Amino acid sequence: MLIIIAIIIDLLIILFSLKYAWWYPKANLKKTRIMMYHMISEQAKNAKKSGLRVSPEMFEKQLKYFKENGWTFIKMSELKNYEDDNKVVAITFDDGYLDNYTQALPLLKKYDACATLYLVIDRHQNDWSIKKNPRHNTGVLANEDKLTDEHIKEMLDSKIFELGGHTITHPFLPKTPINDKQYEMIECKTILEETYNTKVSSFAYPFGIYNEEDVEIIKNSGFESAVTTNEGVVEENSLYELKRIKASGKDSFYAFKLRVYKGFRGFI
Ligand SMILES: [Zn+2]
Repeated sequence: MLIIIAIIIDLLIILFSLKYAWWYPKANLKKTRIMMYHMISEQAKNAKKSGLRVSPEMFEKQLKYFKENGWTFIKMSELKNYEDDNKVVAITFDDGYLDNYTQALPLLKKYDACATLYLVIDRHQNDWSIKKNPRHNTGVLANEDKLTDEHIKEMLDSKIFELGGHTITHPFLPKTPINDKQYEMIECKTILEETYNTKVSSFAYPFGIYNEEDVEIIKNSGFESAVTTNEGVVEENSLYELKRIKASGKDSFYAFKLRVYKGFRGFI
């Protein structure tokens, strides 16, 4: 009996270790952390738990943690100015969900924080998740409320947010012809700048999926940086393939802290 209990405890320790990789070394604190968020909302009822939804309580806890532990919040356009500083964090949001205005904006204001929003231009009633995988056709994403132009103008006026490009329709780049890709990437910058009378200098690859050709298009389109969904901290000479740390709605606060310090999400 004792042997069985000992084996179970050992297995739990191994599972815990694989999940959190607590022994993994901390990444250099001089390397900027770019946090990736989508929605700040409670989990949808009767739906599978989604990593894309971080609850307002958890988001506040995370902002408070950064603030109280000496982290400096920056927008993506400021990345190069903070290269040699310790504890720098850029909060980013992808796509343009309404709760970025209703939930995130007041909390960012409360903690003197700022953020970059990678906004899809054609975002209303557009279920882009099926472009990557037709089986994702749940309708959940299309029905999710998105930001209107008025919300975005207010967010920019507050100086808390800046905009980044995230294409026009959120295409799945590997299946998009080169001319369409160029249009999506280059035009999204022009449209955002003209619509909101603002400067757009950073880009996020849709679904975080891209190849060398896409990197070249972005480099030649006047963007100064581009983020991916690859997990990690900002490495040298990676301005157009920047790694981010996923803030997942499935994570505990402990897992969040490990991700921030290690730039690594564990093995399982
Ligand atoms: Zn996206």
